[in-house]
Amino acid sequence: MKRLLSPLTFFTKACGTFGLRRHAIILAYHRVCPHTECDWLLKDMAVQPDDFDRQLSHLKRNFDIVSLSQLLDILSNGSRLKVRPAAITFDDGYADNFQYAFPILKKHNAAATFFIPTGFVEDSHLFWWERLASAIVSTSLKKAEVRIWGDSLNLKLDGTHQRSTTFKKIAAILKYKKLTLINDFLENLSVLLKVTYSRFPSYTMTWNQMGELCTSGIVGIGAHSHTHQPLTILEDGELVEELNISRKMFLDKLGITVDCFAYPYGEVSDFNQNIKNYVHKSGYRCALTMRQGFCYPDDDMFSLNRIGVGGFDTDEIFKTKIYGIMPFINNLRSVGWKRLLSERRMNLKN
Ligand SMILES: [Zn+2]
Repeated sequence: MKRLLSPLTFFTKACGTFGLRRHAIILAYHRVCPHTECDWLLKDMAVQPDDFDRQLSHLKRNFDIVSLSQLLDILSNGSRLKVRPAAITFDDGYADNFQYAFPILKKHNAAATFFIPTGFVEDSHLFWWERLASAIVSTSLKKAEVRIWGDSLNLKLDGTHQRSTTFKKIAAILKYKKLTLINDFLENLSVLLKVTYSRFPSYTMTWNQMGELCTSGIVGIGAHSHTHQPLTILEDGELVEELNISRKMFLDKLGITVDCFAYPYGEVSDFNQNIKNYVHKSGYRCALTMRQGFCYPDDDMFSLNRIGVGGFDTDEIFKTKIYGIMPFINNLRSVGWKRLLSERRMNLKN
């Protein structure tokens, strides 16, 4: 990490300190592992262990790292934030969370919450996006034509740029299909591209590993649905099942009651008011999104913002995300200098 205070760091810290309401942050990680352990197409999902270690050091010096439930208590309190709390979360339950992230969390005594899609625990199959990436990365073909739900799609596979574009194009279509249809498509694709999908006995965390996390005293578990499908494509009955099966499995396997939920994918298009109502009615106290932003005391507890941390985030980008240039600029646009300065004066009096 660069020790000198660069102009960008100075500006981002100033944005966090001056003119803005003090904010809380919920960081969202997926994988933590060396980049040699993942396909190049998905490196942005994997934060390298050394980077994660430095990020936690920075957070410890500049934020109060609290558990997600403590952060919710602080937000629910409704008063202006006197500290700057940060909660750390992980989605999808990758085994590398246990192997690489957990020891670093313990080293820093930092709390974290792991959101697990229960249908994939101890499953040796890769997630569908991993299988898609591995097919596109490993095929020796330069082009192919695939049928995708009645349409014919020309796959351009000559070079990394074409493969990256092709991956994004297909992933965007698959995301909103039922899981059984995705699995069928990927089987056909593997034949077409002449590849086989790897299977890993320890690709996701086991129940025993999650049990160890729970007894550490610093880790909480949250629900991330059972099958990790966008909830917006499900009938109401299926939605209720997704919300209830995972809770029941955590109770049966780990003896814990989970009360936090993270929407699969979590973009704004992946939840709506009907879904929020069902999450609330199912007994959860909050739901986290992947909408990028800070958290404030008056936020809706069933659509909380997070800050996604990616594998290509340099230290400077990480700081920009947690202190926030974009929220500052947006605030300036919508509120204006005079109101911003008067809020700052009120902050100083409190
Ligand atoms: Zn997920």
